[in-house]
Amino acid sequence: MRRRIAVVGGGPAGLTFARVLHRRHHPVTILERDPAPDARPPGGTLDLHENLGQLALGKAGLLQEFRALSRPEGQAMRILDADGNVLRDWRPRPGDRANPEIDRGQLRDLLLGPLDVRWGRGVRQVVPGTRDGVLVRFADGRQETFDLVVGADGAWSRVRPALSPARPHYTGVTLVETCLDDVDTRHPGLARLIGDGSMAVYGVNRALVAQRNSGGHVKVYAQFRAPLDWQTRLQRPPGPDRRTDIGTDADTDIPTDTDADTGMGMGAGDAEAMRSSLLALFDGWAPPVLDLLRHGTAFAHRPLYVLPVAHTWDHVPGVTLLGDAAHLMPPLGVGANLAMLEGAELAESLAAAPGDPDEAVRAFEERMWARAGRWAQFTAAGLERLVSPDPADALALFDEVQPS
Ligand SMILES: Cc1cc2nc3c(=O)[nH]c(=O)nc-3n(C[C@H](O)[C@H](O)[C@H](O)COP(=O)(O)OP(=O)(O)OC[C@H]3O[C@@H](n4cnc5c(N)ncnc54)[C@H](O)[C@@H]3O)c2cc1C
Repeated sequence: MRRRIAVVGGGPAGLTFARVLHRRHHPVTILERDPAPDARPPGGTLDLHENLGQLALGKAGLLQEFRALSRPEGQAMRILDADGNVLRDWRPRPGDRANPEIDRGQLRDLLLGPLDVRWGRGVRQVVPGTRDGVLVRFADGRQETFDLVVGADGAWSRVRPALSPARPHYTGVTLVETCLDDVDTRHPGLARLIGDGSMAVYGVNRALVAQRNSGGHVKVYAQFRAPLDWQTRLQRPPGPDRRTDIGTDADTDIPTDTDADTGMGMGAGDAEAMRSSLLALFDGWAPPVLDLLRHGTAFAHRPLYVLPVAHTWDHVPGVTLLGDAAHLMPPLGVGANLAMLEGAELAESLAAAPGDPDEAVRAFEERMWARAGRWAQFTAAGLERLVSPDPADALALFDEVQPS
C-alpha cells in the first residue's frame, strides 16, 4: 500500500489512526491546524475504557506505556446533593483497570511518539473526485492532492461538508469550565471533598462536576440549561479585558473557538462576571461545593453541540470521517474512546486490504455508524438525565452504569 493518505486533525482520532498505520510501516500525512502541540491548553482528563480506548492503544502497541501513565484511582466517583450530603462514594477495587484516567496532554504525547505532524496546516476545504485525487485546500492558500483524506478534525470539521450537509446543533446545555491548581496544598478541604477521582453534585437543571487531573490539578465543570446567548447577557464590569460572544468564521459561519474540549477562554474582567453569574445560578448550594467556583482560576465557555444521532452519508470514494467529525455527542465519557477505536480500526482495515482500500473504508463506515449510533442515543438520553428537572434521574443513571 503506497497510497497518499492524509489525516486532517491531530486529536485522539487522527493520532491513533496515524500511529497504528505507522506501526504497520504505512506512511500517512498528518495535517494539524494548531501551530505546535502545546499551542493551547490540552484540556481535562479522559477515562479510557477497556473495550474502547484501551483496545485502540493495544492496537497501537501503547498499552504498557498507558498503564504506567494512567491513574486507576481516578475511577473513584462521589455524588453529592446540593446540600453537600454524600449520596454515593464509589471506589475502584484494587487492580481494577476498566476505566483509568489519563491527562489529555499525556495521551497526546504518548500517541505522538515518533509521528511527524505538519503543524500549522489548517485545512479549509476538501474536494473529492478531481483528476489527481482528493484536493485539499489549506487556510494559507496552498493545496495538495491525496488518494484518501480522513477527516478527524473534530466538531467543526472542514472535511465533513464533502460528505454530508449535517451541522452540529446546540443541545440547550452549556458547560463552563474552571480549574484549581495544587489543590492538596492550597485547598485541602476541597481536595478531600473531591477524593481521588471525580465528584458530581446534581441539582435542578444544573450540576457541578470536579475531576482530578494529575499533579494536583482539578477541572470543574458547571453544567446548566441556558439559551445559547446567555453569556452575552452577563452584567460585565467595566475594563479592557472583555471579549464579546463567540466569533464566527466569515466564510462559513462556523464558530471559531469551540473545539470539543477547548472552549473559549475569558479575560479577567469577564472571568469575574462569569464567577458571579455562576454563584448566582448555584445560589443556595452547600458552601464547600460553591468554593469550587469561588476558587476557580480561569473560566472557559463550552456550549454543548451535537450532530444528529444517526449521522451517516452516501459513501464518497477517497474521503471519510472519524471521531467527533463523524458523530459529535454529549461529553459522557465516550467521545475520545470511540474516536481512538475508530482510528485504530480504520488503520488496520486499510493495512489489511492494500488492493481495495475503498472497500475497506466502506465496510469501516458501516461498522462505525452502527456503533456510534448506539452511543449517540445513549449519551443524548444521558445528558437529559444528568441535567434534569429531577436530580434523582442523575443518581439513577449513575446506579445503572456503576452498580455497587
Ligand atoms: C468537557 C469535555 C469533557 C470530555 N470528557 C471526555 C471523557 O472523559 N472521555 C471521552 O471519551 N471523551 C470525552 N470528551 C469528548 C472528547 O473530547 C471528544 O470526543 C474527542 O476529543 C474527539 O476526538 P477527535 O480526535 O475526533 O476530535 P478533537 O479532539 O476535536 O481533535 C480534532 C483535531 O483537529 C484539529 N483541527 C480542527 N480543525 C482543523 C482543520 N480545519 N485543519 C486541521 N486540523 C484541524 C484540532 O486542532 C484538533 O487537534 C469530552 C468532551 C468535553 C467537551
